[in-house]
Amino acid sequence: MKASVGGYARAKDVRHAIDLLGGSDGMGRVLAGGQSLLAAMNMGLSAGDMLVDITGIASLRGTRLEGDRLVIGALTRHSEIAADPLIAEHAPLLARAVPFIAHDAIRNRGTIGGSIAHADPAAEFPACALALGATILLEGPDGTREVAAEEFFVEVFETAIAEGEILTAIAVPLKARGEVQAIREAARRAGDYALVGLAAVRRDGAHRVAAFGAGPRPMLCTGAMQALDAGDVDGAATAIAGDLDPPSDTQASAAYRKHLAGVLLRRLVADMGEGA
Ligand SMILES: Cc1cc2nc3c(=O)[nH]c(=O)nc-3n(C[C@H](O)[C@H](O)[C@H](O)COP(=O)(O)OP(=O)(O)OC[C@H]3O[C@@H](n4cnc5c(N)ncnc54)[C@H](O)[C@@H]3O)c2cc1C
Repeated sequence: MKASVGGYARAKDVRHAIDLLGGSDGMGRVLAGGQSLLAAMNMGLSAGDMLVDITGIASLRGTRLEGDRLVIGALTRHSEIAADPLIAEHAPLLARAVPFIAHDAIRNRGTIGGSIAHADPAAEFPACALALGATILLEGPDGTREVAAEEFFVEVFETAIAEGEILTAIAVPLKARGEVQAIREAARRAGDYALVGLAAVRRDGAHRVAAFGAGPRPMLCTGAMQALDAGDVDGAATAIAGDLDPPSDTQASAAYRKHLAGVLLRRLVADMGEGA
């Protein structure tokens, strides 16, 4: 099927992009890497959009340190996340997630902002953002605002981004001394979306575990986190089933996904240097 496009404009800067969205009668759609949006348009899932191309906005690219956090521009590509020295030092979880995402062609075009804005519940970066306690930076007609990852992801493909707003960056706390970050997933083939996956951070003995492919949004596994904080790996592997709300589909049943999550959790804590 051929994509149906209502128009196209290339934004010069963030303000220009916001003006273009504001002038599009609600049909404006941000175009970043195009790896999810164009696929949806080609399948006829999205028609008549006025595409606002933000790829030429230099201020949305790259990483920078700002006080006690690392700010990652929305247009930073998956392949750049994998190679960025600041990410390797301060948020290695994101770099470790990249090999699980699709294939090189998609990683060379797809952006972290696009992945987080798209909010596919089976995607890696949204769960990493949740595990890291990230903040999402937005800019719109009324100025800028910041939303914690816990409040940002609402439902399948639904986020806290308001009409006319652009996701400009994500900010993550700098990795602390001794902090451990890890990710595991199970997929049928390399490059497929995960059946289920877990991203985890242990900082000062406290755990944050976020699951993907396990509910309508990335899920914070509070029951498993409490058990891990108490050093109870068996308890965590049992509790995680209650933390999740996975779908049953042609790939796997909800019960199988819950079972897999327990298996992955045991492997993850072993990766993190705790009892398996
Ligand atoms: C075959 C295939 C396999 C894939 N496998 C995986 C996988 O295993 N794991 C995974 O995580 N992803 C996977 N992806 C998706 C890929 O990671 C995409 O790159 C990503 O989800 C979207 O990023 P993008 O920059 O391409 O965004 P686009 O496709 O340009 O946009 C996606 C959506 O986000 C909105 N948007 C984009 N940027 C912004 C912004 N800055 N502000 C506001 N809204 C914005 C767009 O309007 C659109 O609605 C796969 C894609 C394909 C085609």
